[in-house]
Amino acid sequence: MVAQVIDGKAFAAKVRAQVADQVAKLKEENGITPGLAVVLVGEDPASQVYVRSKGKQTVEVGMNSYEHKLDVDTSEEDLLALIDKLNNDPAVHGILVQLPLPKHLNEDLVINSIDPAKDVDGFHISNVGLLGTGQKSMVPCTPLGCLMMLRDYHGSLSGMDAVVIGRSNIVGKPMAQLLLGDSCTVTIAHSRTKDLPDVVRRADIVVAAVGRPEMVPGDWIKEGATVIDVGINRIERDGKNKLVGDVDYASAAERAGAITPVPGGVGPMTIACLLANTLTACCRSNGLPEPEGLTA
Ligand code: NDP
Repeated sequence: MVAQVIDGKAFAAKVRAQVADQVAKLKEENGITPGLAVVLVGEDPASQVYVRSKGKQTVEVGMNSYEHKLDVDTSEEDLLALIDKLNNDPAVHGILVQLPLPKHLNEDLVINSIDPAKDVDGFHISNVGLLGTGQKSMVPCTPLGCLMMLRDYHGSLSGMDAVVIGRSNIVGKPMAQLLLGDSCTVTIAHSRTKDLPDVVRRADIVVAAVGRPEMVPGDWIKEGATVIDVGINRIERDGKNKLVGDVDYASAAERAGAITPVPGGVGPMTIACLLANTLTACCRSNGLPEPEGLTA
């Protein structure tokens, strides 16, 4: 079997176009422009690239982008004061604090100071609890993107055996909750899992979110399974820098029914889902119907 490639780049463009359509409608019919505030503390080069890209795409779909760049030695008090200001600003519907924060700042405290209704990353403890209890919440962007691609490919996921490799708060755990919400039978694997190959071989859906280059070989993949590779790993091969996933793409593609490539799979979906979440937050805060197909 040669796997169908799930093209995350094209899918993300479709999501952005849907968001842009809805934003245009909101402006025309309700006079509302969704706004996303992104807070960056310090000058971490990777974070700067992400923040730039988020700001650019926010403006491209017609939303307002508010960037707040703070010095690396900003005090917790000043950061919390800014978040409080954004929480109370009616023009801001989504707030994202770029992680990781410098060591002297308490990440949990900062994230939990964001108004949960504006927490477009879905990391606030209230949103974690709402997702865990199957209630309406803001859903973390990367797992939301994975879910959208799975639903698009399969339609219903009900009754499928899914394995999520990785149990982080930002990817693995919320991914497992979302799959459970769609009635999959879910296994969460991690570094202490016994016989990972056997666990993976039983799965109709494999979501790999580990951060170890090509650790899942093709012969672990059940014939016809769907493989979602969240991993982004920089490696050097044949003297060149390369991005690879957590799955060995070439061998997995020979057995899977469908697979996301790296790059061009899950990656582009993350910012598209951030925009979708901002739109959702804006609709909810204004008592308007949520955009269809853009939420969990
Ligand atoms: P974390 O480092 O927070 O979590 C990694 C998880 O993998 C942990 O639960 C760990 O288990 C598990 N793990 C480590 N080694 C093994 C092993 N040998 N076998 C099984 N499980 C193992 O990573 P993140 O969840 O933040 O990210 C995972 C990957 O996804 C990274 O490559 C990251 O760059 C990428 N990513 C991509 C995004 C995108 O937009 N596409 C967004 C976010 C992340 P344990 O808990 O036992 O230590």
